[in-house]
Amino acid sequence: MSLSKLMLAAIATGVFFIGSSFASSSADPGEYISVQLLGVNDFHGQLETVRTRDGKKVGGAEYLAAYLKKHRQENDNTLLVHSGDMVGASSPVSSLMQDEPAVEWMNEVEFDIGTLGNHEFDEGTEEMFRLLDGGKHEKTGTFEGAAFPYTAANVINKKTGKTILPPYLIKEVDGVPIGFIGVVTTETKDIVLPSEIEDVEFTDEVTAINESVKDLKAKGVQSIVVLGHVSASSSEDGTNPGQDAAAFAPRIDDEVDIIFGGHSHGFANTSVDGKMIVQSYSYGTAFSDVDLLIDRETKEIVNKQAAIISTYHDGTLPDKKIKKMIDSYSADKQMMLEQKMGQAEASITKEKTASGERPIGNLVADSHRENMDTDIAFMNPGGIRANLGEGELTWGDLYTMLPFGTNLVKLSLTGAELKEALEQQWTGNFQTIMQTSGLDYTYDKDAPPGHKVVEMTDRDGNTIQPAQTYTVALTNYLATGGDGFTAFKKGHDPVEGPPTLDSFITYIIESGGSVAPPETGRIQVQ
Ligand SMILES: [Zn+2]
Repeated sequence: MSLSKLMLAAIATGVFFIGSSFASSSADPGEYISVQLLGVNDFHGQLETVRTRDGKKVGGAEYLAAYLKKHRQENDNTLLVHSGDMVGASSPVSSLMQDEPAVEWMNEVEFDIGTLGNHEFDEGTEEMFRLLDGGKHEKTGTFEGAAFPYTAANVINKKTGKTILPPYLIKEVDGVPIGFIGVVTTETKDIVLPSEIEDVEFTDEVTAINESVKDLKAKGVQSIVVLGHVSASSSEDGTNPGQDAAAFAPRIDDEVDIIFGGHSHGFANTSVDGKMIVQSYSYGTAFSDVDLLIDRETKEIVNKQAAIISTYHDGTLPDKKIKKMIDSYSADKQMMLEQKMGQAEASITKEKTASGERPIGNLVADSHRENMDTDIAFMNPGGIRANLGEGELTWGDLYTMLPFGTNLVKLSLTGAELKEALEQQWTGNFQTIMQTSGLDYTYDKDAPPGHKVVEMTDRDGNTIQPAQTYTVALTNYLATGGDGFTAFKKGHDPVEGPPTLDSFITYIIESGGSVAPPETGRIQVQ
């Protein structure tokens, strides 16, 4: 929005005058500067993927780049920011190259500031820092790193007790300082492979934000923006603010003006306790456009407006330079991606039954059990990122479905420990129904936590005995307590298995090159 349009909108809504000295002084637009913040969240290295919204194509890094560049031209005072999960769980073009292409894309479109999402930690803090600061990887060689700074106020190095990144950054825009505070959801500790984040601690988001606000205020910064990899939601008209950002807002210092959310991949354009909260879906299908008017003298934001803009292909030309970049990555990877690995007799999807069972989850769990030759197998649904379509299955299809690079582990657990693990599906703040193979069970959704599982049987229909030992196949993510399943850490006699994706490919090959959707009915709810 242009400055004059912004002024008009401000005057029309009256927001402009509240708490500003403008009302009592003569109207001189020169005393105010217009700043545009463009925000992206949860891009997940989706350089080459296209999705649909309202029946129209959206996404693809060359389209997102075209939109960002066009909007940037509308205001010299533009900052491009992101609120995390820009890498990790990526599509193959970026993922196969350790997500370096996603970072190169961010460099090319000239991001100004970013923060960490949980997925930035997928391969550990060392690899996260390599992507930020540059360094060598055996697969890709030397990499330059991100050309822009990151902030994170609530990730602490356990050894030093200090934040691993600057808790905040200050950007001078036309002489006015704007503070940016980054935070990542404390859920990160439950949803990243625990061994990858042993060296860091995730502290309370609100406390970390408020401490940084204190510092910023002491430095004379009055315009403050939170880049939060924390969930946020609202209706399209701004009503019904929800999720973490909305819950946090009343406890956050009132000097914070805007919270860029993320993590839940949804829409948010709302306001809670005077703080604007935005989130623009995910995967490059949209971005947030926040227009600010800042009083040059008080350095306060006197008006703010936001729009969530979808990157519809219709009516926009893709950015040529980015298109070329993606094509060159793609050409390298194409042969590998297109390699045919087998076929699906029908589409196999993540669609849940009433109990939370998913056909594709059953299939993946079956492949774990078969390859690790165990009694039972578990798969966390969050590790499965795409459906399998009917027909030919390429390596790229399978990689997109299982992109995390986990390995399989075989453990021995007692029946009692298995029950404890299943009960953990309903404890904590992260509810997830694991997919099973070789284990059927019934749960009572109304029973209190800890007493929901009412019956467990093995694949022959025999009741699982509390004192008996069973062999279990799962990913090293779950085995080390991922998703909050700490009961699995009690497992003994660990045996390391192959990468989860390789195991799945082996399963297809050993099934004669063809897989069908497994029957459901393993998990019952009453
Ligand atoms: Zn996230």
